Amino acid sequence: MIEAIYYKNPPVLAMTTHIVERRRHEDGTHVVLEQPLFYPEGGGQPSDQGTIAGIPVESVYLKDNKIFHVLGKEPSADKVHCQVNGEVRWHHMQHHSGQHLLSAVCQDMYGLVTVGFHLGERYATIDLEGPDIDGSWIPVVEDAVNRYIQEDRALTTRLISRDDREHYPRRGDVPLTGAIRLVSIAGIDSAPCCGTHVTSTGQIGLLKVTKTEKVRSCTRVYFICGMRSVNDYQNKQRILRELADMYSTGENDLLQRVQADGQRLKELEQNCRGLKQELAVLQASSLAAGHWFVETTVAEREDMQLWAGALLSEGVRVAVVRCGQRLLIQHSGDLDWDCGQFIGSVAARFGGRGGGSSTAGQVYFADQEQQAPFVDHLRSVLEAIKHG
Ligand SMILES: [Zn+2]
Repeated sequence: MIEAIYYKNPPVLAMTTHIVERRRHEDGTHVVLEQPLFYPEGGGQPSDQGTIAGIPVESVYLKDNKIFHVLGKEPSADKVHCQVNGEVRWHHMQHHSGQHLLSAVCQDMYGLVTVGFHLGERYATIDLEGPDIDGSWIPVVEDAVNRYIQEDRALTTRLISRDDREHYPRRGDVPLTGAIRLVSIAGIDSAPCCGTHVTSTGQIGLLKVTKTEKVRSCTRVYFICGMRSVNDYQNKQRILRELADMYSTGENDLLQRVQADGQRLKELEQNCRGLKQELAVLQASSLAAGHWFVETTVAEREDMQLWAGALLSEGVRVAVVRCGQRLLIQHSGDLDWDCGQFIGSVAARFGGRGGGSSTAGQVYFADQEQQAPFVDHLRSVLEAIKHG
């Protein structure tokens, strides 16, 4: 294991060092530094970000016991100034330490074993064994985790030998060879880990679970720490305040008001549908008035079918209902004319596309101007059928 600066002295984020090896690959130049400052991706934690000689570091990886830094451009000199992005490093440290604490509490309180960890730019996740975990445990776990954060327990790292049974980790798989790097939270947890960590639980700041979901045979738990939790709280508070203002009520009565409004909306929609049906039947009878072919326009797509049905039931043989760029063509079923086939063979010629069954079909026109010539053509085809 390389004793790197990110382990020995994590607050050091900038230094001048030398490139000791360069390898040229398709994706850029991979360089090895005399003194490794950047954390290489591993153990669920992404690599550090930053610059080497002003060139952005695209990724950092460990291979053959060396740390390689991928650079899109090759530095001209071997002596280089390196700068790690401190904000990203801190985000990784907070969330990785938060993960250890969260995993330890889940295991201690509910026997839920962590089998996966992912640290992203905006949040982190752990995968817990068992797909059907009841969500009632979340606030209990959050309370315990945040109490440990407030107790500001020490977080320490040390190397132990594989024979040091006295200090064996409480969680996680032990590597088969070499020394074990052990990350411990005083009185709570110890686990083998190669990541970077804060030095006490207080530095995690605040840990909040934001959602859970079932993934294969596991439950995936999304969580955020530190300022991300604070910013998330601010955002949710803003949304809640704006909603409460919209409903002219307090935050605590909001849920009840939204539920009541949802129920009222459902009733209104039902009433509206009934009225639309009545209106369609009334207007269809005057529109139909002995006509063989009727065209009409509606404002909403969901009403197209309603109007076509109402017109056909008034004795119309072919109804064309227009809604914006869309046309619905439907006939009474006793015409020797295949509507879907007609659309399939003719619509494209007029700039439309669509299809349908023998009695009904829809055509969509990206350019609404092209609808009228298509309907004129349809009318002439139907006139020929009528008189043929
Ligand atoms: Zn870890």
